[in-house]
Amino acid sequence: MLCPVCNGLEQLAVKCPTCAMQTNDLGRAVDLTAPYAPYQPDDVDFNAEMTIMDNGPETQSCCHIVFCRQCRAAFEAEVAQWP
Ligand SMILES: [Zn+2]
Ligand SMILES: [Zn+2]
Repeated sequence: MLCPVCNGLEQLAVKCPTCAMQTNDLGRAVDLTAPYAPYQPDDVDFNAEMTIMDNGPETQSCCHIVFCRQCRAAFEAEVAQWP
């Protein structure tokens, strides 16, 4: 299984559920605990509970964080991995 977004094969195209603007991919959720996170968590209204794509419990998905500049909010987006 590989994540096409992590491997640069596909662009993550997720729209903000609030304003429908294109969001920016901030990388995998697990990477955001790294010291060089691309944004300051204090600045955003982080809603970890929100899932944009529902692939069902059996799908192995790669969890990315996307950020809407307009709402200054981050969301989780699950990317279906390729077999
Ligand atoms: Zn990924
Ligand atoms: Zn938004």
